[in-house]
Amino acid sequence: MKPVQLFLGGLILFAFISSCNQTGNENTSDQSGTKRKLPSGITYSYECLKDSGDDNNGWEKADEIINKLVTYNIDVSDEEQMRYGDTFLLESLKKNDFKIYEGHKAQYKLDTILQKLVTQRNNPSNIQYKIFVLDDDTTVNAYTIGGKIFITTAMLKQTKNNDQLYAIIGHEIGHNEKGHIKNTLKQVKAGKKYLGDWGEAVVAIKRILTGSFNQKKELEADYYGLDLTWKAGYDICAIKQFWDQMAKAEQKQDWLSFFRTHPYSDVRSRCLTNHITKNFELNCK
Ligand SMILES: [Zn+2]
Repeated sequence: MKPVQLFLGGLILFAFISSCNQTGNENTSDQSGTKRKLPSGITYSYECLKDSGDDNNGWEKADEIINKLVTYNIDVSDEEQMRYGDTFLLESLKKNDFKIYEGHKAQYKLDTILQKLVTQRNNPSNIQYKIFVLDDDTTVNAYTIGGKIFITTAMLKQTKNNDQLYAIIGHEIGHNEKGHIKNTLKQVKAGKKYLGDWGEAVVAIKRILTGSFNQKKELEADYYGLDLTWKAGYDICAIKQFWDQMAKAEQKQDWLSFFRTHPYSDVRSRCLTNHITKNFELNCK
């Protein structure tokens, strides 16, 4: 049997069992969607990544410095990011890189979740968001570019509840709002003269998006998605539970090649558990 591939590149991405003690999970759906404020004095720590045993800090720093040198005088506006997104979609369809699942039964739900999350942003960008279901039952993945969020049917099957979708989609929004996509596109723009035509640029972009950002950016996007999920009134423990499930899958199969620059799932679960306990005073199971 062909193993299911797991990524969370531009994305995050999950399934789960338990719920935690708060409003928003399916057991207390009567309170789901009740908007909340973030705890005052909330902090975002990246210390937990240092214990991950994956010592690529040196590489990440070198990468950061090189990127700054190469892209220091290049800007990519929100509008330009959206145009990259449009082109990425058109070129991917032309090359049959993916197939959009038109009229998927989850589309309305996904559109609703996206809208609820987007309205919770602080200092929102001008990026307009749209979510697409990709007809792909083997790759558990979600990724994003220029406000377009792509989620595979395999990912939809993997998620166990709506709360997880909130966190996943929120994570993708985070990659846009936190400038991760912008930085990627600055690199693409800097390298475009070497890449030649758009077709090659699209291949390069896809490789970046479907791989992942560095660990810190992934966790930053997790935190961002978690904040939006909380403010929209849904269960923030769901994403921790998702990563627990992924950690189990990793033990069974060799996922490491897919997760090389991702925080491994157990690390991510641990980081989010610490974060939730400290800031939200919740015990996620
Ligand atoms: Zn991501």
